[in-house]
Amino acid sequence: MTVGSLLILPGDGIGPEVMDEVCRIIEWFEKKLKIQLDTKFDLVGGSAYDKYGTPLADTTLKIANEVDAILLGAVGGPKYDNLEFSLKPERGLLKLRKELDLYSNLRPAQCFDALSDYSSLKPNIISGLDIMIVRELSSGSYFGEPRGIEINKKSGERYAINTTYYSESEIERVAISAFEIAKKRNKKVCSMEKANVMEVGVLWREVVQKIKDKNYPEIELSHMYADAGAMQLVRWPKQFDVIVTDNLFGDLLSDCAAMLTGSLGMLPSASLGNKNANGKLKAMYEPVHGSAPDISGKGLANPIACILSFSMALKYTFDLKKEAELLDKSVERVLSKGIRTADLLQKENQKPSSTKEVCDEILVELNQQLKEG
Ligand code: NAD
Repeated sequence: MTVGSLLILPGDGIGPEVMDEVCRIIEWFEKKLKIQLDTKFDLVGGSAYDKYGTPLADTTLKIANEVDAILLGAVGGPKYDNLEFSLKPERGLLKLRKELDLYSNLRPAQCFDALSDYSSLKPNIISGLDIMIVRELSSGSYFGEPRGIEINKKSGERYAINTTYYSESEIERVAISAFEIAKKRNKKVCSMEKANVMEVGVLWREVVQKIKDKNYPEIELSHMYADAGAMQLVRWPKQFDVIVTDNLFGDLLSDCAAMLTGSLGMLPSASLGNKNANGKLKAMYEPVHGSAPDISGKGLANPIACILSFSMALKYTFDLKKEAELLDKSVERVLSKGIRTADLLQKENQKPSSTKEVCDEILVELNQQLKEG
């Protein structure tokens, strides 16, 4: 059965290396579970610049607008450092996010038991952690006008301005996104803002509560000031299921929550927008890490962040929750066997597995789970 279409953009550096492994997983799903994806491949970032003279070609953007989901590896690298700003690889990624109006950024913080020693928090606080931060991505302090650095005409002193702006509809759409995600999880949402000192926070709280009262009776909603939320994330993170927050607070809280769980090579993400012509939310899935030029081409990259990004696509775009769980479980089993790439090794005498070897083992565990039924 064809479940939908997927545009694969491997990008630069370790992007193509980790994406090769994801393609082997996709093949496994096609062969063993008859889950057919209409996959297309194209370029983004430096590799697109090399071929098309731009980090995101119009033809690629057109396909990106037509598919159900995009899976992106990573962009960037020293080779492109001296390019003019608009041609830099990162512009390709930002243009994709902007043109597709991907306003809801999902950053899970999930701790695999085998890695609970990697956290700076105690294992009992962190083991079994599974939370999702939903960060508003297209408005707020990073985009609000007026902004800039000015000179006070009277005193001659420079001053800087940024504006935190949110319209009701911008808050509504990210709140809906968070509630929909919570429906597929443990049905709990905590909304974080600073309603005690910011008008934006007062409106945020009011609108999120209104959406919940109107359309989501089954969801348990709480509100927390973002500074208290940061403290609670470190004190007892397992109290949360889904956290929804604005662009600036989300930037800080999602980085903090993600690093509770260990290496950059383990962190997936998703960015979602409005519905496309097929009634699915526009979506781009990508690992949080960059192109890691220091390890690129050496078979050292951890493919798990990209594999878990694909798992998020299975769950949130293609509605294949059980299949996503099968993949997550295989990753967990591989880690608990002690198989891991160099970024996850703590002892000097441990032998790291290569990018390909980690994926080989994930495929073994997928087959094993099929046998177990
Ligand atoms: P980076 O994430 O590429 O690397 C930071 C460190 O983490 C490096 O030591 C790297 O070896 C390690 N690392 C990252 N991913 C890993 C993985 N999967 N397995 C093992 N180790 C891993 O960040 P950086 O070095 O600051 O940036 C390098 C390039 O990537 C720059 O050009 C930057 O602009 C770009 N970048 C792209 C994205 C993206 O595509 N989303 C994100 C961040 C940075």
